[in-house]
Amino acid sequence: MKKVAIVGAGIIGLYTAFELQKKGFEVVVFEKEDIKKVGKKSCSTLVSKRILNFIDIENNLIENTINKCLIKFNKKEVVLEFNPAHIVINREKLILKMIKEAPFEIIFNSKKTSFEEFDYVVGADGANSLIRKSLGLNDPKFKIGLKVEKKIKDHTNITKTFKTKDGFTWIIPKGDYVEYGILEKKENLEKEWNRFNKKGENMSFALVPQGLILSKSDKYVLVGDSTGLTKPWSGGGIIWQLYEAKILIDNFPDFKKYNREVKRFFCYKIIKGRITNKLVHFIGNNLSFLIPSKIKYDNDFPNFLKSLFASIFKK
Ligand SMILES: Cc1cc2nc3c(=O)[nH]c(=O)nc-3n(C[C@H](O)[C@H](O)[C@H](O)COP(=O)(O)OP(=O)(O)OC[C@H]3O[C@@H](n4cnc5c(N)ncnc54)[C@H](O)[C@@H]3O)c2cc1C
Repeated sequence: MKKVAIVGAGIIGLYTAFELQKKGFEVVVFEKEDIKKVGKKSCSTLVSKRILNFIDIENNLIENTINKCLIKFNKKEVVLEFNPAHIVINREKLILKMIKEAPFEIIFNSKKTSFEEFDYVVGADGANSLIRKSLGLNDPKFKIGLKVEKKIKDHTNITKTFKTKDGFTWIIPKGDYVEYGILEKKENLEKEWNRFNKKGENMSFALVPQGLILSKSDKYVLVGDSTGLTKPWSGGGIIWQLYEAKILIDNFPDFKKYNREVKRFFCYKIIKGRITNKLVHFIGNNLSFLIPSKIKYDNDFPNFLKSLFASIFKK
């Protein structure tokens, strides 16, 4: 039986481990954190219900359902109706549940850097991936995601976002509390956060990568945040990376085919996402009369023009 080391017990590493074990590989997961800290990464974990196609999530892990996003432009507010709807997941509880149910070994507090005894190594070790660095690959671009929590009960179903210099801020009602956050370039972060002026407890932050870095090795492969694959308009990574992980699992261990398939599926979406994002903010702030105030919108795989025409036609 071929042995696979998975480095990183985040959502993507654990999902990949479950699926590769099912395919008959002998899997061992190496996680640098202690079990008590592993689920605590700074992450809003607001994802579309597409996550249920990949991972079983019971109701007690869902903190709220969000089906709308209000975007504030300079002179207009636009409501995106999420289709499919989104859910806010308790990331820590989800990861602990996946760890508890794992039919493979997980080694915590791991400092392992050499994997000679393994046939294949999956680098699912996050934005600052050591596996990526050890392969001599460049880092993707980074922004910083920062969030705080305020103990106000809010079960409403609408999240709000406001454009900042090179990113955006958000307010997410999470049921028992409200989360305020920002995604920005490091150099703008302090100024834009102070301008947003939202105070709260439990401040945490982490890198949000943007790019698509793939390994050329036949033994080492990257997946998840380590590849830099996040949605260009939101920095959300989980759904796109689950699709990426599925492509890896389907083609394992043919990593050349995995790279080809990932590029085929995502390159166009990344470029289109970057251009549309800029265009929407330009039109929203300067020609806002062109945009209807309500648009039905797929936040994972948007077709903005189609959504726009559908909304205008409906009006
Ligand atoms: C503030 C913020 C908010 C976000 N909100 C959302 C959101 O609402 N929706 C969404 O889809 N995405 C969101 N994201 C992005 C999302 O968090 C990531 O895309 C996703 O968590 C990536 O999962 P991963 O498993 O690839 O990496 P990670 O979750 O980073 O997991 C990597 C794991 O590898 C471990 N590790 C690292 N180095 C080593 C090593 N050398 N050896 C062993 N283990 C190692 C880490 O401890 C960690 O457990 C947000 C990010 C931030 C910063």
